[in-house]
Amino acid sequence: MAKRDYYDVLGVPRNATDDDIKKAYRKLAMKHHPDRNQGDDAKKAEEKFKEAKEAYEMLSDTQKRAAYDQYGHAGVDPNSGMGAGFRGGAGAEGFGGFAEAFGDIFGDIFNGGRRGGGGGSQVYRGADLSYAMEITLEEAALGKDAQIRIPSWDTCDACHGSGAKPGTSAKTCTACNGSGTVHMRQGFFSIQQTCPHCHGSGKIIPEPCTSCNGAGRIKRQKTLEVKIPAGINEGMRIRSTGNGEPGTNGGPPGDLFIEIRIKEHDIFERDSDDLHCTVPVSLITAALGGAIEVPTLSGKAEIELPEGTQHGKTFRLRGKGIKGLRSSYPGDLYCHVAVETPVKLTEHQRKLLRELDESLRKGGDKHSPNAKSWTDRVKDLFK
Ligand SMILES: [Zn+2]
Ligand SMILES: [Zn+2]
Repeated sequence: MAKRDYYDVLGVPRNATDDDIKKAYRKLAMKHHPDRNQGDDAKKAEEKFKEAKEAYEMLSDTQKRAAYDQYGHAGVDPNSGMGAGFRGGAGAEGFGGFAEAFGDIFGDIFNGGRRGGGGGSQVYRGADLSYAMEITLEEAALGKDAQIRIPSWDTCDACHGSGAKPGTSAKTCTACNGSGTVHMRQGFFSIQQTCPHCHGSGKIIPEPCTSCNGAGRIKRQKTLEVKIPAGINEGMRIRSTGNGEPGTNGGPPGDLFIEIRIKEHDIFERDSDDLHCTVPVSLITAALGGAIEVPTLSGKAEIELPEGTQHGKTFRLRGKGIKGLRSSYPGDLYCHVAVETPVKLTEHQRKLLRELDESLRKGGDKHSPNAKSWTDRVKDLFK
């Protein structure tokens, strides 16, 4: 297969600057990164990467680029004997060279902005913390000003934050020479990683401070005021910026996330902005109708039950639900009627019910609308 022109491979003009070439290569390298090209595409991507890498190696080297500009591929082909005594091309070097190139070009992407100024040690943002907060349904509906105790960190008085036992001092980590990072080879790539010996601090403390165990800071507690907004729901998180763990080497602190748990309510079940409750109603009230009292989050309300209310009938009280965080209107309250069968009857009561039963039977189906339609359906089933 004929070799493609190096400029074409990188998609840059012949008068491209070194910077243009580097940018073009970086773009291609990202595109053909094996992590992004799995399965069937992997092989093709690898070829493309090798091609781009070779073109970049040639064109980023002033001498090689001049030779290529003058003689074309022959000017830089290691097999042609015309080259200026160098070997190029991923094919000749195998994956080792490939990995090196990748490591170099990605090194500064991966490490961009992570390095701190202080003595080569790395700057890290502190970890985020999460705090589970249990509130009642009423609190969720109306909002709440809560106080929580969260961990906070003070500089250790004994070692003034150095982490070293007073009278001793930290030493430069020999594994990374104080840089806080080491190069690891993983498959094709040379990847910069946090030094596992010093965890990126670049320092080793031979004799840790006994007050803080070498951490340089001491964990304490502080009280934080948290505003729980009205309408919050189960599982929602409130972010408290900067109240997570402190950063390392002057890095910013993490955030605290307060995750809301809502206690089970004795009466109401929440479904988004709506509330549901089950209202027991006596057999007699259901039959005769009448006003019943129902609870709402904001007090009591009354429902007028019509005569002959059936079990399972639902009454909706508009606007008696919860106004959600992002809702314009509150939801509704659904009251589900549960007709209650009387229990522990006296002999007299039993007698009254039997009399009632007898009287109802005389009236036939008209007193039992559900039983009538059900009997009809059963009949149809066995027809
Ligand atoms: Zn200390
Ligand atoms: Zn180290």
